[in-house]
Amino acid sequence: MRARRNGGRGMRTQTTPGTIETPVLIVGAGPVGLALAADLGARGVPCVVVEQGDGATDHPRASALNSRSMEFMRRWGVAALVRDAAAPEGFPHTALYCTSLAGYEIARIERPHHGGKGATATSPERPQRCNQLWLDPILRDLASSHGDTRIHYGWRLDRLDQRGDCVLADVSDLNRGGERRQIAAQIAIDCSGGHSVIRDSLRIGMAGSDHVGQHVSVFVRISELWRHHDKGAAALISFVDATGIWRNLVMLDGRELYRLGLRGKDYWDAPEAIDTTRMLTEAIGVPVKHEVISVKRWTARNVVADCYGEGRIMLAGDAAHLAHPAAGLGLNTGLGDAFDLGWKIEAVLAGWGTSGLLDSYERERRPVAQRNVAHSDASHGRDRKLKSHPEIALDTPAGARAREEMSEVIAGSQRQKVVTDGIALGYRYGGSPITVADGTPEPPNPVSEYLPTTWPGARSPHAAMPNGSSTIDLYGRGFMLLRLGSRAPEPSGLERAFGHRGVPLGCRTIDDPAIVALHERRLVLVRPDGHVAWRGDEPPLDPLAVVDRVRGAA
Ligand SMILES: Cc1cc2nc3c(=O)[nH]c(=O)nc-3n(C[C@H](O)[C@H](O)[C@H](O)COP(=O)(O)OP(=O)(O)OC[C@H]3O[C@@H](n4cnc5c(N)ncnc54)[C@H](O)[C@@H]3O)c2cc1C
Repeated sequence: MRARRNGGRGMRTQTTPGTIETPVLIVGAGPVGLALAADLGARGVPCVVVEQGDGATDHPRASALNSRSMEFMRRWGVAALVRDAAAPEGFPHTALYCTSLAGYEIARIERPHHGGKGATATSPERPQRCNQLWLDPILRDLASSHGDTRIHYGWRLDRLDQRGDCVLADVSDLNRGGERRQIAAQIAIDCSGGHSVIRDSLRIGMAGSDHVGQHVSVFVRISELWRHHDKGAAALISFVDATGIWRNLVMLDGRELYRLGLRGKDYWDAPEAIDTTRMLTEAIGVPVKHEVISVKRWTARNVVADCYGEGRIMLAGDAAHLAHPAAGLGLNTGLGDAFDLGWKIEAVLAGWGTSGLLDSYERERRPVAQRNVAHSDASHGRDRKLKSHPEIALDTPAGARAREEMSEVIAGSQRQKVVTDGIALGYRYGGSPITVADGTPEPPNPVSEYLPTTWPGARSPHAAMPNGSSTIDLYGRGFMLLRLGSRAPEPSGLERAFGHRGVPLGCRTIDDPAIVALHERRLVLVRPDGHVAWRGDEPPLDPLAVVDRVRGAA
């Protein structure tokens, strides 16, 4: 993060009459901007959101919400709404690989812990498939439900300047022929997506694999597809031919809506020339009645911004990182940005947090984006390198051998792409300037499996509480100090230090032996976003130093 002036507190700069003043300006009402507005709204922080579009989501993008994103939805009180809007309970989240749906099955990866209700051992929320077609309106309604949140559709940000102790935004009201408006904010968050003009104006570059591929996505309605073949319902269907994985069909609503994904410059150059009837007949193996709803082109990139902002302006979501959707991580990473920012902005505006909290945003979130983008790049790269066989679809011994070989290759290469529970729940803010390291080495952090830990910076683990709630439900407003076991020391020094600095702190004693063991120490201090800030078996020798570090003042 480039230099910050005056920490985002207070606004003394004179503004012109008619200027809209707000503590927080969010540019872009995509899912990340809306999620941040919703989180701030729940914290009682007023904000203004400007969105150049009209708010309609008419073409499907992200579907895969991992369990961490679902935990955010739970915090915001909309997890049930998202589950209801997602694929019906019981719809299998299977990833299926076949020559065609009526042809040969090559491999399948089942994900029984995805979808449906009920806690798993690691989270109170299961991953869901809820496309942005339904998710974005839920987030919009949620954000709008907070009285101090103003969302302006048809307002385009043209320019953002930092003056004195505020950010001044020039905006065109497209609903009124481009009428000019000015907004003054203490903090501005750029959630304007991959084509961010703010990032460009700050001359922040993006590094990584550019132009990973040109794609076309066809939004299509096919009723009861599973009646036309014997493979059963599946969430992700990849078609394999003599050249490798050549296209995929993504289930959207578990009923009749799909996205057909095509890769290649020819399709991209002339999407109107795509013969969807032929494509679908080849993919399904028999002609089926279908209706094309819309066709969109998009370019895949696996890149991360060189820095996450300057001064009072910060980047979040696709404005800060872009990931090929192969591993379904783009939106999930962006929602994590919003969740990290919400409590920090609240703390700084309330005065108990310092500008160091805002600086920690990049130090915490950029490494997560780098890991997720690298994983997306590797997953997509592996797909492209999958060597197939000319005989793969033939009813011959050579064809059977080719399918067997391909099945082994897929089993080895695709699981890490479609099962990313370690990435979802295991990301950690080790090395963060606002966590207190305890000198222990970082535990392993695999891609597909989540290993619970209270290592400082990690998400504090989920455990079912006797009343049926989750330990993660204890976190949200202020810090939470867990006393684990009846013999855990009294942390009165730490409580006094928090009180002295005006930092909100709750304290909870938990006796359940399994939960005590899971937390690894007798005292665990958890941040408002559920990440561990400090842990120990004894209270800290210098409690004020701990509080100052976790509020960004060290
Ligand atoms: C085909 C496809 C499939 C995907 N699948 C997945 C998946 O399964 N899982 C996953 O996690 N991710 C997936 N993604 C990625 C995901 O869609 C994005 O990461 C996500 O939409 C990013 O959200 P955002 O809010 O950061 O940006 P966006 O959704 O791009 O929103 C940015 C908003 O800012 C507005 N804006 C831009 N400039 C201005 C301006 N100057 N003034 C005002 N408003 C402005 C735009 O109109 C837009 O509404 C997929 C992407 C694609 C293309």
